[in-house]
Amino acid sequence: KYDIDRLHCDVLVIGAGGAGLRAAVEARLRGADVLVVSKSLFGKAHTVMAEGGAAAAMGNVNSNDDWKVHFRDTMRGGKFLNNYRMAELHAKEAPERIWELETYGALFDRTPDGRISQRNFGGHEYPRLAHVGDRTGLELIRTMQQKIVALQQDDERRGSEQTIRVLDETTVTDLVVEGGAISGAVGYRRASGRFFAVDAPAVVLATGGIGRSYKVTSNSWEYTGDGHALALRAGADVINMEFIQFHPTGMVWPASVRGILVTESVRGDGGVLKNSEGERFMFRYVPDVFKEQYATTEEEADRWYEDPDHNRRPPELLPRDEVARAINSEVKEGRGTANGGVYLDIASRRSEEFIRRKLPSMHHQFKELADVDITAEPMEVGPTCHYVMGGVEVDADSAQSSVPGLFASGEVSGGMHGSNRLGGNSLSDLLVFGKRSGEHAADFAANASEARVSDGKIAEAVENALRPFANDGLNPYEVQAELQKVNGRLVGIIRRESELVEAVKMLEDLRETVENAAIGGGRAYNPGWHLALDVRNMWLCSMATAKAALMRKESRGGHTRDDAPGMDPEWRKVNLVASLGEDGISLERKPVPEIPAELRRLFDEEELAKYMTPEEYGGDGEEGQ
Ligand code: FAD
Repeated sequence: KYDIDRLHCDVLVIGAGGAGLRAAVEARLRGADVLVVSKSLFGKAHTVMAEGGAAAAMGNVNSNDDWKVHFRDTMRGGKFLNNYRMAELHAKEAPERIWELETYGALFDRTPDGRISQRNFGGHEYPRLAHVGDRTGLELIRTMQQKIVALQQDDERRGSEQTIRVLDETTVTDLVVEGGAISGAVGYRRASGRFFAVDAPAVVLATGGIGRSYKVTSNSWEYTGDGHALALRAGADVINMEFIQFHPTGMVWPASVRGILVTESVRGDGGVLKNSEGERFMFRYVPDVFKEQYATTEEEADRWYEDPDHNRRPPELLPRDEVARAINSEVKEGRGTANGGVYLDIASRRSEEFIRRKLPSMHHQFKELADVDITAEPMEVGPTCHYVMGGVEVDADSAQSSVPGLFASGEVSGGMHGSNRLGGNSLSDLLVFGKRSGEHAADFAANASEARVSDGKIAEAVENALRPFANDGLNPYEVQAELQKVNGRLVGIIRRESELVEAVKMLEDLRETVENAAIGGGRAYNPGWHLALDVRNMWLCSMATAKAALMRKESRGGHTRDDAPGMDPEWRKVNLVASLGEDGISLERKPVPEIPAELRRLFDEEELAKYMTPEEYGGDGEEGQ
């Protein structure tokens, strides 16, 4: 019925960020014919914005570090809701993935004795983030692109067909599931508006996050929750959507750049937070579960930078959820800056030369956007929507979802980070699970029967995508603004039952407005059309978040309930799983995978008791030593 392009491959990778490119490389190395499609330009995926680094327990700066310490930190950061197996694989495999990246040509900053340098970050016990100044994501993507081009040249040299093809500026609108398994996908080229279908027995979703559902966000334009929504519509489960990370330090001024990230490296490299009274307020916000690991005086905190083995960490380096809530409270209680933030000061603590060398992008960003010289003046910062912990539920080892042939890795997948991700753990997550998803997708495709997207499914997808041209509702920019208003006001950093009830109701009321978003013009380069499709995805993700946030009656990581403060050990055992049916999003409680005894023994019983019921941690004293 429709004149469209038809493509075939063994493994279709949707997304060309860190996870997608690492998956593509691995699938190709295992002999698969790979097609990468990406909404963004090749080399411009969200990952390029990553600043601070990739966490891996290489022990280059402090030899006490190892995978067990990294595992412990990750579980603590996620408040023990993490899929333990993902956290274990991640901690064990991250160093290898970083070293491997060097063999692909990455140029990391070095220690004085020539090893890969590692920096401090919130929640990490030792300096652990391999970095390239504050432009680590850019180097990661540059390297991976180079690797892909090298593999393409290798195909050419051997005279064979290219086995990694890349289609950028290309949006996937639908996954196709036929006969109970993936058969491919449908989408369109953004430049021409021309549709295509890909026959593929295995698909890796690597589409990143959902941050554009909030107005104040550090996320790039691509973060419209496409992968989460594609997975839900394909019948896969999505977990933990109530957990959204609000990064403590986004720019607050000028208004036009509100939300742009101020990297945690500023604090890792010595910057401190102060309120309008000049007080270094974080000392008042160390929660009980972290009391033993954080300094109680400024003197001890300052000594830690030089002598971390004999002093405790500064409270500015608590996990992000704690710092974001603290800033929120300071501002609410009237101790914020005129622009509604707090001060982040590195100017009075480090030399100009140090700041320019370690934080070149931050220096440039503040000078250009706010005319602030961070070597001489403090920055003004406040929380910004940054990362979604929730995502497609996958098997930890293979990254496969509940739909046969559908894999997911990177920010679109869920479970690895529990209720709160530690900084630096995303870039390492992309590498570890990007590789695993590519490997398992290639193996799955090798054993699968031939896939073919049926004409009926293509027609359905094309008609659905073209609907905004015939609609008569609001323009999609207004619809997105409405959605952002609901999320910002009612499903933000601090939540309460009455507001969440209102949010679910308002989102329900918005359903028709979203479906009826209308656009004019043609199909070629029509950003209004792109957004009209994106906003459907954002709406679906927002609904999953609001419903899950309403259901979880406790506060944990990236989900803070005013009316249910504190963690509840019974809720620690529960993942909320979203699925899509006739009546929209529904939620189901599912047990969090139980941490096996040998991993539980990495923690003191006293610590486990802060999170778990006595039956779980073996409160008889025999385990948990
Ligand atoms: P992305 O890199 O976002 O790639 C997603 C890809 O999917 C893109 O190519 C996009 O175009 C494509 N896509 C999306 N939808 C579709 C569709 N429908 N069809 C086709 N293609 C689609 N983490 C760290 O660990 N360390 C850091 O220092 C760090 N710094 C950060 C700094 C900033 C400013 C931000 C915003 C985040 C930072 N993070 C950091 C988080 C980290 O960058 C992200 O979590 C990570 O890059 C996500 O990578 P990904 O591969 O999952 O997705």
